[in-house]
Amino acid sequence: MAVILDGIKIAQEVRVSVRSEAAALKEETGIVPGLAVVLVGSDQASKIYVEKKAKACAEAGFFSREYKLPEDTGEGKLLDLIRDLNMDKFIHGILVQLPLPRHIATDKVIAAIDPLKDVDGFHPYNAGALLTGAPLFVPCTPRGIMELISRTGIDIAGKEAVIVGRSNIVGKPAAILLLAQHATVTICHSRTKNLPSVTSRADILIAAVGKPHMITANMVKEGAVVIDVGVNRLEDGKLAGDVVFDEVAPKASYITPVPGGVGPMTIAMLMRNTLEAAGAAAKK
Ligand code: NDP
Repeated sequence: MAVILDGIKIAQEVRVSVRSEAAALKEETGIVPGLAVVLVGSDQASKIYVEKKAKACAEAGFFSREYKLPEDTGEGKLLDLIRDLNMDKFIHGILVQLPLPRHIATDKVIAAIDPLKDVDGFHPYNAGALLTGAPLFVPCTPRGIMELISRTGIDIAGKEAVIVGRSNIVGKPAAILLLAQHATVTICHSRTKNLPSVTSRADILIAAVGKPHMITANMVKEGAVVIDVGVNRLEDGKLAGDVVFDEVAPKASYITPVPGGVGPMTIAMLMRNTLEAAGAAAKK
């Protein structure tokens, strides 16, 4: 039976250390890490994420500002706000909650964020820096995934890592991070042929698809580390991952639950990235 990687507990440990490092930064430099969270529209899930982020900031001793803009906010107005935040010396991290309403070009908005304040790590500069091995900000979810894997104590070098999902925010950066630690990496997607034959090679299997219960026991190698990134709302209102936990757990060596696995780590890593942005600003 797999050991459950308790994301709530590990995230709490990260947040406790971020809090004490933030206090030390304030003591030494007078700088309080500041995060601006921008929400456009009234997507319910986004609202919950934004509230969680504000709460995490308060707990970490950070300064935070929330900008809740109406659904019909024009792209120009949003870009103006980002330019103001880029210049704001109290703000070290800028996070624009995705998805944005359809009339706003997400790429344009992300590209407008100062890469030194891009604590989500989505700016093309930061994506390129990650790819070339000198990351400034690693996207929060993949960074959280790597922290969870490191807690297993396994040596990643030489392991077969398979990632199902190739998004810019999860699948691709997770693949690059595993590659940097010398795993042999395969990325799967909707056109992958015979998915079970690929996933069942994995010593480390990451599911980041967004389809409930798609990874079944026959797709998993005995003893694999299984990281379930998926967050899927079922008809009965419950949350489910991409992995059938009950049948995969007996086969895996380590597994993350949903909820309580990767999700809490994402917010903890946002706090860490914001702290690092503030630390870098202090050195300027
Ligand atoms: P995207 O929708 O951007 O990407 C999904 C990926 O899954 C795509 O690459 C797609 O392939 C692939 N895919 C779809 N169907 C299949 C299939 N049948 N077989 C193999 N691959 C398939 O999602 P995200 O990366 O943004 O998110 C993935 C999941 O992770 C979601 O449930 C999301 O809610 C969750 N998530 C959780 C976070 C957390 O903090 N816990 C943070 C971010 C996301 P193709 O490219 O070919 O379309």
